[in-house]
Amino acid sequence: MKITDIKCFPTNVGSGSQLIVKVETSNGIYGWGCSGLSGRELAVVGAIEHFRSLLVGKSPLHIGAIWQDLYRGQYFEGGRVLTAAISAIDIALHDIKAKALGVPVYDLLGGKQRDYIDCFASLRFRTFDDLMEKARILKKEGWKIFRLAPAEFEADSKGYFEPRESIVILADWLTKLRQEVGPEITIGIDYHHRLTAAETYSFMQRMPRGTIDFIEEPIRDESPEAYESLRKMIDVPFAIGEEFASKWQFLPYLERNITQYARIDVCNVGGITESMKVVAMAEAHYIDLMPHNPLGSICTAATIHVAAACTNFSWLEEVNTPAENMGTNDKAFYPVQPQLEGPRYKLPTEPGLGVEFNEELASKQEFKPVEIPRLHKKDGSYTNW
Ligand SMILES: [Mg+2]
Repeated sequence: MKITDIKCFPTNVGSGSQLIVKVETSNGIYGWGCSGLSGRELAVVGAIEHFRSLLVGKSPLHIGAIWQDLYRGQYFEGGRVLTAAISAIDIALHDIKAKALGVPVYDLLGGKQRDYIDCFASLRFRTFDDLMEKARILKKEGWKIFRLAPAEFEADSKGYFEPRESIVILADWLTKLRQEVGPEITIGIDYHHRLTAAETYSFMQRMPRGTIDFIEEPIRDESPEAYESLRKMIDVPFAIGEEFASKWQFLPYLERNITQYARIDVCNVGGITESMKVVAMAEAHYIDLMPHNPLGSICTAATIHVAAACTNFSWLEEVNTPAENMGTNDKAFYPVQPQLEGPRYKLPTEPGLGVEFNEELASKQEFKPVEIPRLHKKDGSYTNW
């Protein structure tokens, strides 16, 4: 069996954009992969154009060697664009190999270690009422882990974000949320690196102990040293890592126990091959995976197989819940996809990833890259979205 072609499908699905990659082979088996570099899909298409000529004619079964070839095969190795491209190809190669062997992908990774994959609900909200209503729906439907994605700054449509105003509002709302949902719900908040270390400290000081169970990426992650200083200032666990593009980026955060959850993104970190190495590094430090999963069904499926095959796993991100549907797993694009049963996925049992993409539909679509909103402070200066 040889690789015969690699095709790219940058596609708008639901409210997001996704780059789907198909690897075709000489015996008719094909594999699906997905790149996670949202908003810069066309850069990844360019990287895959480079990789196509290197891979056509090679065996798709030598996944580890292909990973090394693609990573080391240029003087300027690594970086998010290249590892997003490698991720998509690596996931597709696992799909092909598992289909060729007639097994689910997790059987290539040591076999399943759990029977289902627990999820956390990504709860997006702009107003207090919005937050409380969605929390009530999720609790009623049996969801127990809420990861809040605040967008309170969008409520007045002025397009600015003032950290000191945000922390006062959100600390108040979260204190009331805890009173409403009770102690059995796990609550985390993704501050989407909009704060400084000092602002994060103030945010935590404004809530009673036990209000939140973890905080995701309050500050940017380029500096492990900055996070290390913040680690000493507050006493809630961190969830960090969705932007990391290799095991080397995870290394300081795991080795120094800066983060308590590894927010790995299988479609950015380097695919299933690199994910399983991060899994082992995290396990050595008693750190659980809490995978980033904002894309579509290929990302979900690939992550489910990694989660099934490791012991150190907490919850998978789910953006399509009873409280909100982002449409990123639209059945028209994904006629075969992992099935959510309440707040968990049952494990796929069919050979491969257990997902099918409608390339005919994607081919007809005119792709429109999605730009993230740009946020400013009131004085006009840039801040993070
Ligand atoms: Mg996040």
